[in-house]
Amino acid sequence: MSERVFNFAPGPAVLPEEVLREAQADLWNCDRSGIGILEQSHRGAVVDRLFAEAEADCCKLAGVSDDYSVLFLQGGASTQFFMLPAYFLAGNSTADYLNTGSWSKKAIKEARLYGKVHVACSSEDANFSYIPRSEEIRYSEHPTYVHYTSNNTIFGTEFQTAPNPPGGAWLACDCSSDIFSRPIDVSHHGLIYAGAQKNLGPAGTTLVILRKDLLDRCVRELPSMLRYDLLAKEDSRYNTPPVFGVYIIGRVFKWLLARGGLGAMAKQNADKAKLLYDVLDSSGFYRGPARSDSRSLMNVVFRAPSEELEKKFVAEAGKQGLVGLKGHRSVGGMRASIYNAFSLAGCEALVEFMRDFEARHG
Ligand SMILES: *Cc1c(COP(=O)(O)O)cnc(C)c1O
Repeated sequence: MSERVFNFAPGPAVLPEEVLREAQADLWNCDRSGIGILEQSHRGAVVDRLFAEAEADCCKLAGVSDDYSVLFLQGGASTQFFMLPAYFLAGNSTADYLNTGSWSKKAIKEARLYGKVHVACSSEDANFSYIPRSEEIRYSEHPTYVHYTSNNTIFGTEFQTAPNPPGGAWLACDCSSDIFSRPIDVSHHGLIYAGAQKNLGPAGTTLVILRKDLLDRCVRELPSMLRYDLLAKEDSRYNTPPVFGVYIIGRVFKWLLARGGLGAMAKQNADKAKLLYDVLDSSGFYRGPARSDSRSLMNVVFRAPSEELEKKFVAEAGKQGLVGLKGHRSVGGMRASIYNAFSLAGCEALVEFMRDFEARHG
């Protein structure tokens, strides 16, 4: 298959066509420097400008104030799982974690290496099919911070509003799979992080937005590469940074701004997801395991009546250019990941296929 397909993959995921085409040209010659983007010095003028613009556009896009640092780091969200507690969680202190899925569990596991973890709520009892309501959350006495996963990529659930940590605690968010898919109140958070490969760019590059006053709160001696304060001071370039990743993320920020920013994205994402959820709600054939008040606009998880039919669904869809629909093995069934860069046309094509498949097998 030589032409591009509708790629519903959960991550690495589809990127905006305009960004990919621009990157193709910039691989050869970036900014009329005669040097391609992969060959640029990370201390040179082209990369200086690129980092400065990516940071400024991030702030513009999400309304990030001067009280925050924007960092482009490495190692993916999984590195933030340990980097955050290593820096902030003292051995005798407690952090509260909201357990809403596999990624939350991994974050909890890493935090336990450094201090005490209080699981303030969990939806594991129902295979993570819902987001606990605020009155179901039991915070500990004096947590250093509260950590949540805003969108649960595997289970297809998403916080509709950010939790409210108890006084004195700041809020940390793993925003990997819904970052900049809707407006975000950065000022409500102490630290936000996202692996880039869902909504922003290439895997490995990691966006971290953190409140500057937290930089002074490192609780233990750490290697330089784990020091947020040092990385902030060095403008994310303590060592050779993932320049290409930051380049793509910067282009995606510009693409988002040109499309009307996060408010416009929220509207488009809601429209896309509604197409798919409407099929689930009007069908006796498909079923969505996520509780309706907890549904994700980024990952639409659904089942067919039997595993055999699900296999058939994924295979037949693939033949029609609808690719990456197999659900995560811990949930089964299907999952349509429809991040910012995924088109409405792709959702419409899936709806048509779903209705046709139901008509043939229902
Ligand atoms: C994909 C994902 C991760 C893992 O990201 P890596 O960059 O592979 O470490 C963590 N959290 C969430 C919510 C994710 O969707």
